[in-house]
Amino acid sequence: MNYRISERAASLTPSLTLEIDAKAKRMKAEGQDVVGFGAGEPDFDTPQHIKDAAAAALAAGFTKYTPAAGIPELRQAIADKHRRENGIEYRPEQIVVSCGGKHACYNVILATCQPGDEVLIPSPYWLSYPEMVKLAGAIPVILPTTDRTEFKVTPAQLRSAITSRTRLFILNSPSNPTGTVYTPEEIRALGDVCVERGVLIMSDEIYEHLLYDGAVHRSVASFSRAHYEHTILVHGFAKAWSMTGWRLGWSAAPEPIARAIDAIQSHSTSNPTSFAQKGGVAALTGPQDHLKIWLAEFDRRRKYAWERLNRIPGISCVNARGAFYLFPNISGTGLKSMEFCQRLLESEKVAAVPGVAFGADDYIRISYATSMANLEKGLDRIEQFCRGLVG
Ligand SMILES: *Cc1c(COP(=O)(O)O)cnc(C)c1O
Repeated sequence: MNYRISERAASLTPSLTLEIDAKAKRMKAEGQDVVGFGAGEPDFDTPQHIKDAAAAALAAGFTKYTPAAGIPELRQAIADKHRRENGIEYRPEQIVVSCGGKHACYNVILATCQPGDEVLIPSPYWLSYPEMVKLAGAIPVILPTTDRTEFKVTPAQLRSAITSRTRLFILNSPSNPTGTVYTPEEIRALGDVCVERGVLIMSDEIYEHLLYDGAVHRSVASFSRAHYEHTILVHGFAKAWSMTGWRLGWSAAPEPIARAIDAIQSHSTSNPTSFAQKGGVAALTGPQDHLKIWLAEFDRRRKYAWERLNRIPGISCVNARGAFYLFPNISGTGLKSMEFCQRLLESEKVAAVPGVAFGADDYIRISYATSMANLEKGLDRIEQFCRGLVG
């Protein structure tokens, strides 16, 4: 049988990170002492009151289809959150609840991009963005940045990449994989360029609450009516409420775009899981005490890992002010990221993600969503590994 795979599917880059991840898991299963720095999720449990709300909904029989865009109560709670925390006015009809922030991103791209449209993506990027753009038949255009500018694109760089075919600019601050947080002034300036040139912005703000060193988050949609009208905001419950497995996220968009997203979703996944949505309501309307505790712990680990990394020969690391990742430069070791990570795993049993997966081959991604004891052990091993390379 000749199974012809669609061009759409064949155009995707298989996840490089999965290869290393699978190998790390295999080694662990064999009983080897592997330290994992690959995690893309908090190592804390979902707060109890959120789990209770979903369990109560399940017990009460809240187990049927809901409206495709989500239950009115949750769409309202999301609109209230944006008014309260971001100073942005959305009506519930502008909110679509999806099966994770990733699903929300995919819907936004499908709803706004046609074949041949160009989508501007700063690198290092979250690895799903270019693949989603390709699935929509559109063209990812990468705007490269380095650690010399803290991985920030400039307004001039953005302006010079815009053509008559540019449809969308993807902004992710705080960033996965670099932890970079743009200042409000920088966000406004990038937004100004998009407004001036009629380019939409997909602003992925899922790490909004994970900030350190006094960094502040300001949504690009909040600056003016024009910024608001050019922005589709994407968010979710995975990171600040540690709900990765719940599959719950949302988009907030101008109403015609929200209607298009709703239509796409109604013919693909339908609604996000009914009782998970009740957990989402509890997450947004309930106490937020957990966040302070998590942030203090993340911050302690971030400082420790950053200081250690910068003392390792061959490695330099700019500080991250958001999310739970560091993105050290490994070019001083003479290795590219894939070989570095493969050899690190084989010889020292430490799993990290090669930067090439995020479009940046001179770096690796270290997640500090793991215990302090693991961080100490893993960094000792990385140090030993690099001393062996650099001498
Ligand atoms: C984790 C993450 C998301 C969303 O993840 P879901 O689990 O689908 O909610 C979106 N964008 C970025 C950059 C992320 O790291």
